[in-house]
Amino acid sequence: MNQQIALDAVTTPPSWFPANLAALGRRFERLSPLEVLRWALVTCGDDVALATGFGASGVVLMHMVSRIRPGTFFFYLQTDLLFPETMALRDRLAETLPIQFTEVPASLTLQQQSRHYGPELWRHNPDLCCQLRKVEPLRRFLQSDSRRRAWVTGIRRDQSPTRANIGVVDWDYATGLLKIAPLATWKQQQVWDYIRRHDLPYNRLHDQGYPSIGCMPCTQAISAGGQERDGRWVGRDKVECGIHVQPGGQRLTRSLGMGHR
Ligand code: SF4
Repeated sequence: MNQQIALDAVTTPPSWFPANLAALGRRFERLSPLEVLRWALVTCGDDVALATGFGASGVVLMHMVSRIRPGTFFFYLQTDLLFPETMALRDRLAETLPIQFTEVPASLTLQQQSRHYGPELWRHNPDLCCQLRKVEPLRRFLQSDSRRRAWVTGIRRDQSPTRANIGVVDWDYATGLLKIAPLATWKQQQVWDYIRRHDLPYNRLHDQGYPSIGCMPCTQAISAGGQERDGRWVGRDKVECGIHVQPGGQRLTRSLGMGHR
C-alpha cells in the first residue's frame, strides 16, 4: 500500500507547487522516512539539497540517503563556532558512509564580524549572529542554483514545541522551495534505536548531556529529562536560529513556543 503511494507521488507532475501541497503532505504522513527520501531524490533528482547539522536525526538521514543514492552531497553551515567533536563526526561519517559534504561558509569571518559588530556578537545580539552565520548563508546557498526545487532537513516535531506543527513537506517561504522533513513524525527514541541498530557514528557530546548540539557559545549540557533543545540559547527568549521559521516569517521565541504546548 505504501509503495503504491510512493509510486503515485513520484509520477505527480510539478503542478502541485504549492497548490496541492496539503494533499501531498497528507500522503507523506503515511510514508516511511525512507520512502519520503526516495520520493525527494527521484522526483527532484539533483535539484534537491540535503542539509545537516550533524545531529542524531541527521545521521539517520545520511544513512538512509546513502542507501538510496550513494555519493550524495549533504551541506552544512560552517559557523566557525562548531564543536571539535562535531567536526570529528563529520570526518567519521565521510569515512564510514558513501556520502560527501559541502561546507557553506558564514557571511563574514569571525574577525570581520567582531570588527563590524563588536566582539562575541552572540552574547549581545544572537539573532543577528545567527542571521549572519546561518540564515543568510543558508538562503544564499539554496538560492544559488535556479534549478533547485527542494531541500531536506532532519527536524522533528518532538524536538520542541516550536516544531510541533511542522509538515513532512512544507513550503519554505524564505527560500521559495519545498522543505521536506522525512523524520518529522519520528520520536527521539526511534532515532536512537535506528542509530544503534545500524551501529552508526554519532557526536560523542550526546553521551555527555548534550541532546542538541549547535555552536559552542550557545549550547549547554542539560539534566536528564529536559526537552531536546533546552540546552540551546539558555537564559534567552530564543529557541531557533531563524532557519525554521513559521509561514509568514514569524519569529519563534521560547515564550511563543511554550504557548504551543
Ligand atoms: S548559534 Fe550562537 S554562535 Fe552560532 S550563529 Fe547563532 S548566535 Fe552565533
